[in-house]
Amino acid sequence: MTRPTRAVIDVQAFLSNYRHTKSLAPDTRAVAVVKANAYGHGAVPLSLALAHEADAFGVACTEEALELRASGIVNPIILLEGVFEPAELADVEQHRLIQVVHSHVQLKWVLTASPKRPYTIWLKLDSGMHRLGFDPEAFIDAYESLHACPHVGDIVLMTHFAQADETENNRTLEQLELFRRLAYGLNCPVSAANSPATLAWPAAYGDWIRPGIMLYGPSPLDRDHISARALRPVMRLESALIAVRELTAGESIGYGARYTCAQAMRVGVVAIGYGDGYPRHAIDGTPVAVKGVRSQIIGRVSMDMLTVDLTPVPDAKVGDPIELWGSRISVNDVARFSDTIAYELFTGVTRRVPLVYEGTP
Ligand SMILES: *Cc1c(COP(=O)(O)O)cnc(C)c1O
Repeated sequence: MTRPTRAVIDVQAFLSNYRHTKSLAPDTRAVAVVKANAYGHGAVPLSLALAHEADAFGVACTEEALELRASGIVNPIILLEGVFEPAELADVEQHRLIQVVHSHVQLKWVLTASPKRPYTIWLKLDSGMHRLGFDPEAFIDAYESLHACPHVGDIVLMTHFAQADETENNRTLEQLELFRRLAYGLNCPVSAANSPATLAWPAAYGDWIRPGIMLYGPSPLDRDHISARALRPVMRLESALIAVRELTAGESIGYGARYTCAQAMRVGVVAIGYGDGYPRHAIDGTPVAVKGVRSQIIGRVSMDMLTVDLTPVPDAKVGDPIELWGSRISVNDVARFSDTIAYELFTGVTRRVPLVYEGTP
């Protein structure tokens, strides 16, 4: 028997989430963001499944882009942080990658290069997140120099929101206002919306949206929102019970004896741990489904195993299936109990966990 731990990827749910995203913003094109191995879901299989529909794919670096090209993806691919050194411009040219230009250094590399084909550039404004992008004072000059450059073709103007998940926070509108003031007069396509803005801030749609996390199911918003209700979980992280223990009152469980039984109870041992990417920070009470029945983690998560309360499932036995997150247990709930976000849980799933695809078209 092989270890029962795996991440089942529902390809139809992924396609459905992309279509739902497009239905929210039907007049825009969408960059399906598949960086970090499609948020841990497998960039190649999901991009291949979506290739006929995706307006473009977004990745974090040329290595990720080349992996898609090598698997036959011909859609536009955007390097969301541009290139990290000028030597990469050869790959950009050869594989027709689209580069973000967010800094004076990158701008100089582009202007001094001599490609055979013009580059397509996404020029980034820092509208207030203060991570990447040109200051408002430098943005127009950067644009003018690209516009005047004979080997620069299409230019898209972009920015990124810091707090679009906070649906009551006007900060997003302030960033958008600055972006509008600087970018909308320049007669180029514009792009601002990540997933939270796509879900909650339609004013930010522009010409290109850049959805990431929502394609994988979780809503990044700080409250329930009608636009997110049709999203379906794509990953089901699952394992099985490998031992069932009958403990008496006063006995404790696992490293550090974090959990002590208040009365006699049955405890299940599950073949998954932080070595698989399940968060070690998960506190007692973190939800888990045993044979489809909601229960909770008790005791500290160890590298290869964790322990669950079997009280709600009196007939649970070795071999029974466990869902760590998926359609019964929301990954956002697990994230809340572990002081993190779904993004980190997804990208933290380790190589030891096989990704198994269902519903591939
Ligand atoms: C990762 C990323 C996105 C997608 O963000 P989500 O919150 O996952 O939708 C959009 N734009 C840029 C520039 C990014 O780096």
